[in-house]
Amino acid sequence: MLSWLVLAPLTAVCAAALQQSADYASKYDGVRVLRVPGAVDALVNSYGLTRWDTRGTHIDVQVPASVYDDFMNAVATLGANATQTMDVMVMHEDLGASIREESAGMLDYKRPEESEEGLVGLVSESWFLNYHSYADHLQYLDDLVATYPDNAAVFTSGTSLQGNPITGINLYGSGGSGSAPAVVIHGTVHAREWIAAMVSEGFAYSLLANYTAGDEEAISYLESYDIYIIPNVNPDGFIYSQEEERMWRKTRDPPPSGSTCYGVDINRNWAHASWGQARGASTDPCAEDYKGASAGSTAEVKGLAAFIDEIANSTAGGKMYMDVHSYSQLFMSAYGWTCTQAAANAAELNSLTAGFADALADVYGTRYDSGPICQTIYPVSGDSVDYAYDNAGIPYSFTPELRDTGRNGFVLPASQILPSVIETYAGLKYLLANMD
Ligand SMILES: [Zn+2]
Repeated sequence: MLSWLVLAPLTAVCAAALQQSADYASKYDGVRVLRVPGAVDALVNSYGLTRWDTRGTHIDVQVPASVYDDFMNAVATLGANATQTMDVMVMHEDLGASIREESAGMLDYKRPEESEEGLVGLVSESWFLNYHSYADHLQYLDDLVATYPDNAAVFTSGTSLQGNPITGINLYGSGGSGSAPAVVIHGTVHAREWIAAMVSEGFAYSLLANYTAGDEEAISYLESYDIYIIPNVNPDGFIYSQEEERMWRKTRDPPPSGSTCYGVDINRNWAHASWGQARGASTDPCAEDYKGASAGSTAEVKGLAAFIDEIANSTAGGKMYMDVHSYSQLFMSAYGWTCTQAAANAAELNSLTAGFADALADVYGTRYDSGPICQTIYPVSGDSVDYAYDNAGIPYSFTPELRDTGRNGFVLPASQILPSVIETYAGLKYLLANMD
């Protein structure tokens, strides 16, 4: 179990204000989110509905009130003419209300000030009770470093298109930064997956707090690995998801000529050999999985790829890579681009992903499925895990899809942040303890 630090007396320091547009939540009022059968794929397209997730078996989709009756009638008609049942599950009855509830505590966070006892306790688990603004996320990394100055430093992996430094925290043991094989973890590639930033920060806090508290496991991990954690690798998209469109996924790249649609899917843009195949990736700039104009074209991927390549080519080398997403409760490894060619160390990867899932389940009983990306979720080309594995040569290359399985999807209640952090840290510990 974690040994969380005792909460320090909290002194009120206002959280950085959000610049939310007046209709930030109200633009989703009356919008339902439904899980519908995969068989209605063409219908979802014909209504131009926004998708959250698409599988063979089901599609999670936003349905505005204005088309709800027509859409449901069309689904029923399709069902009457088909052999399969057309079960529809309601994920959100009113997405606007769910978004208001999710964000209710965001501005309640009070940043603790340095106490009389010094810096220990400056950060605490109270951070994990709410979601936070981007400015507060950056402040939190600074506060972690101020609390644990012997074992942490802030670093950047380049700059976003709009000029936001892509900021992370480097954790290390007594040998200092760069003295051990590297573990690189990053989150919120997809802007709307807010839980990914919180869980990434949870890894950093858990390792630092437990290391300092004398926990032998945490000590062995930080003495064995040089750990780099970037909670938000898509700051432009993340800020947009907090201030304009909660359901924004991509970067904020401007539309290519002939299109009016913004954004590239970072996790389809990596310069892996599979980028050109566009498997599970779109050439349509308006698609949520648009792969970009050329391989590695986005500022965010350029910065990250250069960083990962540099780590991999360093003396200590790269050991593990993890790209944190939500939702679906999955823990996956290379490959994404092919379901027929197994990774060279597939047996080891399968053992580690299954071990992660079991260790996570031991905490609260939350079940994750595990395996290679292509077989476990769907084929993807130009994805980060395949780049880290093949191009950078990092042997343990993973991606989780965090809570939940679809009850809430991207709008996961804030009450589930801390449990997500604690159970996922158990999975991370399994990997750090069992990688060769
Ligand atoms: Zn994602």
